[in-house]
Amino acid sequence: MGYNISTMHIWRMFNGECECPMCKLRVKTECDIAELYLSEAVMEDAEREKVNKYGFCKDHFDLLYSGKNKLGLALQQSTRLKRVDKLIKPVDVKSAVKTAKKLREEFEDCIICRRLEYNMVRYFETVARLYGDDEKFRKQFSTIKGFCYPDYVRLVENAPKAGKHAKEFLEVLYEKQKQSAEEVHKNLTDFTMAFDYRSTSLPPKSASMSLVQSRIKFYGEKSTLPERR
Ligand SMILES: [Zn+2]
Ligand SMILES: [Zn+2]
Repeated sequence: MGYNISTMHIWRMFNGECECPMCKLRVKTECDIAELYLSEAVMEDAEREKVNKYGFCKDHFDLLYSGKNKLGLALQQSTRLKRVDKLIKPVDVKSAVKTAKKLREEFEDCIICRRLEYNMVRYFETVARLYGDDEKFRKQFSTIKGFCYPDYVRLVENAPKAGKHAKEFLEVLYEKQKQSAEEVHKNLTDFTMAFDYRSTSLPPKSASMSLVQSRIKFYGEKSTLPERR
């Protein structure tokens, strides 16, 4: 089918219980990229140059900092700092606003965000195309719980790529989204009820996870690197 990303991970993530399979794909991709910036590969000139140019955003710095290669990270931060520092020059009042704008742009970029987004664009497209092309995937899609809101929006956006199954794709997507939101809402309600002094029974176990569930529903899943000693 000429996909330029691996569909293997899609099949794997769209299988089983989770709050959002797209988040699972993102977390996997994000951690793979982060591991790359903690590996020897990143010491190659071309990659080093990109890190110097774009740097890391704060979330990705934190992710890298939780990883295993503090020396590698320090070297990358050091060269990036040198580059950024060159941009800091005396500013006169007349050009202050303009200078601040330019500087802000410099700090808003991130090499990991860029690479991640490049991959995610392809994943969203491929999920919709798979839905259009593959009956087995359509079946599998119907077994999932739902998506976080940001990923729901992106799937809706990509729906036309499901071709003649686009209408069905949107309908299933809608149904899943409604059902899963209802479940989160029920768990949140059970949780809040437990604080009522008139309540006599303990809340169900699912209630205790409701805030974490709502975290994923609204903002997506957070990436963490596997723990190391
Ligand atoms: Zn998600
Ligand atoms: Zn980033």
